[in-house]
Amino acid sequence: MSRILIIYTGGTIGMIEDPVTHKLMPFDFDHLIDNVPKIKMLNYEIDHVQFDRPIDSSNMDPSRWAEIANMIQRGYASYDGFVVLHGTDTMAYTASALSFMLDNLDKPVIITGSQLPIGEVRTDGEENLITALQIAAQKRQDCAPGVGSGSMVTEVAILFENYLWRGNRATKLSADNFNAFRSPNYPRLASIGLGIEYNEDALWRTPSRRPLNVRTAMDNGVSVVTIFPGMTAENLRHQLMIPGLKGAVLRTYGAGNAPTGAWFVDSLKEAIDRGITLVNVTQCISGSVSNPRYDAGVPLMELGVLPGHDITVEAALTKMMFLFGLGISTEEVRYYLSHPLCGEMTMK
Ligand code: ASP
Repeated sequence: MSRILIIYTGGTIGMIEDPVTHKLMPFDFDHLIDNVPKIKMLNYEIDHVQFDRPIDSSNMDPSRWAEIANMIQRGYASYDGFVVLHGTDTMAYTASALSFMLDNLDKPVIITGSQLPIGEVRTDGEENLITALQIAAQKRQDCAPGVGSGSMVTEVAILFENYLWRGNRATKLSADNFNAFRSPNYPRLASIGLGIEYNEDALWRTPSRRPLNVRTAMDNGVSVVTIFPGMTAENLRHQLMIPGLKGAVLRTYGAGNAPTGAWFVDSLKEAIDRGITLVNVTQCISGSVSNPRYDAGVPLMELGVLPGHDITVEAALTKMMFLFGLGISTEEVRYYLSHPLCGEMTMK
């Protein structure tokens, strides 16, 4: 019988309406599980742990990512898989952060939530929770006994409505559609219809058989800088002068293009000379930043801004937090930012 650990952090899935303010508020796990009696029909052994106080995921932060990672580590030997119940707003950040923190992961960590609270008649939460549990319990047919966990999914993934996405490739695209997530630069890991159809070629397979290595230190001396027409040098310089800043994700246009004027180039050069690491990630929903295709991409490359390839902003930001948190040299941080760690980017 599969053993699954549910980690409940909060989010809409477990919320109820405050009778006075009519605002949705995170509520406890028993309320959530009482609303899904069908869970008993699954022949799994299910345990749960939860945050002391479940949160709206707008309040998610690196210390809470560490809490989730530590819960997984503590249960790693005892459970076949993990289901993390989480608000949708920052789910893609959490999925990315966990993918970096859980090195050598060989079991499923399936993150899900819902757009409507589980107590509502038309909730998507019940189906999402049940499907997430089924995915967390799924074993591979072709796996020789004793070779790894034998789990179908051996990575951090987001299950939402009809699809399973790689966690560090996913992004929240809709505030109200039940299919709220997409991974525009990476194929779906599974499609959910009458059955669960896995896209086995897209699933992550751990190259090593080393034990799980959980590293939770994150350095939040990082930032996201979005360029826009009309941006001033003062604005840009201020954002890059934040005390303690070590690195920033620069959200550029199209295939990695940015203004070529001295006001822009000199501001970036100043920051880079002060040791700030910059990664170039496109503002477009899909596509990649690699070698410049236009003159407007050349100065960034010449200055040493790293191409982010097809990484999401969520993954780029949390990867920087993780790498700076390791306490390695800037050169090493730059090296690892230029290479995928766990399927978060594809280099052309
Ligand atoms: N604000 C909620 C949260 O992220 C939204 C949701 O769960 O869908 O916690």
